[in-house]
Amino acid sequence: MNLLYKSTRDASKTVTASEAVLKGLAEDGGLFVPTSIPKLDVTMDDLKDMSYQDTAYAVMKQFLTDYTEEELRHCINSAYDEKFDTEVIAPLVKVGDTYHLELFHGATIAFKDMALSILPHLLTTAAKKNHVTKDIVILTATSGDTGKAALAGFADVPGTKIIVFYPKDGVSRVQELQMVTQKGKNTSVVAIHGNFDNAQSGVKALFEDKELEKELCQAGYQFSSANSINIGRLVPQVVYYVYAYAKLLLNEEIEAGEQINVTVPTGNFGNILAAYYAKQMGVPIAKLICASNENKVLFDFFRTGTYDRNREFVLTSSPSMDILISSNLERLIYAIAGNDAVKNAEFMNKLKTEGVYEITPEMKEKLKDFEGGYATEEETKETISGTYRSTGYVMDTHTAVAAHVCRAYRESSGDQRKQLVASTASPYKFARSVMTAIDSSYDELDEFALIDELEKVSGVEVPAAIEEIRNAEILHTRECDADKMKETVKEILGVEV
Ligand SMILES: *Cc1c(COP(=O)(O)O)cnc(C)c1O
Repeated sequence: MNLLYKSTRDASKTVTASEAVLKGLAEDGGLFVPTSIPKLDVTMDDLKDMSYQDTAYAVMKQFLTDYTEEELRHCINSAYDEKFDTEVIAPLVKVGDTYHLELFHGATIAFKDMALSILPHLLTTAAKKNHVTKDIVILTATSGDTGKAALAGFADVPGTKIIVFYPKDGVSRVQELQMVTQKGKNTSVVAIHGNFDNAQSGVKALFEDKELEKELCQAGYQFSSANSINIGRLVPQVVYYVYAYAKLLLNEEIEAGEQINVTVPTGNFGNILAAYYAKQMGVPIAKLICASNENKVLFDFFRTGTYDRNREFVLTSSPSMDILISSNLERLIYAIAGNDAVKNAEFMNKLKTEGVYEITPEMKEKLKDFEGGYATEEETKETISGTYRSTGYVMDTHTAVAAHVCRAYRESSGDQRKQLVASTASPYKFARSVMTAIDSSYDELDEFALIDELEKVSGVEVPAAIEEIRNAEILHTRECDADKMKETVKEILGVEV
């Protein structure tokens, strides 16, 4: 069967999977969604014994139906290889009474590697299939982790250039160093004077700019996106939920068919949406628990049915979740509106013009699988230090937000189902916040002294991704105002400003 994709804002056109991956964002500003969510066509019993790579093939072939088996297996095998520091790619670790799915064993030690190590391969394959001759320019807004993972994935990939925008004061020191030391002739990194939402809206505006598109086309370029608005990011993320369930079964932690809950530390809503897709594919997931930090716009949305971004933007210790416009929520809104592009476009227009929209009671009814929760900065810290003291396990700030919300949900609901927590970053990426949560006196140490202390405390060797930046040369120093992103892109590409 050939699965096609539609924009969430226009019901009239369909595109193939490879076209959707190439474009990133639909021309009308909508996001591409599959016209239906395919079912798994292998049993959990089969999946139990599969490698990560074979699981990836079993899941992705259902979504990316216009890729041949050879193409898809080549993409998968080029992505999930020695770049990961473990053969199992996404290990499950039991921490107290919850299962942490560690998604940070790739090249840049955040879960973004799970999708961004394969996206360049999916994209260059798509370009070949669709006879694209222009250079593809990947435009990416990052709250810290996507940027580095995308840079690492696309560096020196022939036929591509990548430009990353990050909020100047909105990322951790390690995140910033990882980006500004990136090698590769085709890479550019720009610090913008603004927050992540400014960066993301700016990038979306560039995608929708028809005039710019024409100018770029004449210069031999076309845009695509490495953000999770690209369906080529989401599909690879469905894989690890299928894989995790199968491994729980293999390890006899659960019985066949037993439902589990999944808690996901959420920002742009990509990771949890992938879990929702996994559930619809047939994975026995009961609750999808959406964990926010103090930017709790999603918590309020799940509670009230009103999405309201008109509030103060808070800089927290989990910067990759400092987001008020959660772009992938649009895919859920579209689904609960009954795949109604007109209705969805109205909500998104209200979000753009007024910063707020309210879904209907019928739509809210369809959100029963979701639970919202949030952790304050204090609760995040307490979760890191409390877990360390009781189990010796050191987790990063984002994962701690989820661990807190997971426990709070279990206590308040009495729901005794087994709990999977998506563990999204290595603690090394947020060493200062993690170490000072354990003991505030660590704050006196500089970044790399902290990292050495973290090694002693956690017993986990300093990852290669951190060793790499210790003495690396700073290669990117460009900055720009949030309203000058277009000029900056043209300057980088050598297109007349
Ligand atoms: C990106 C990111 C998140 C949020 O994921 P979304 O898919 O944007 O919801 C959470 N934790 C970390 C460490 C991240 O890098």
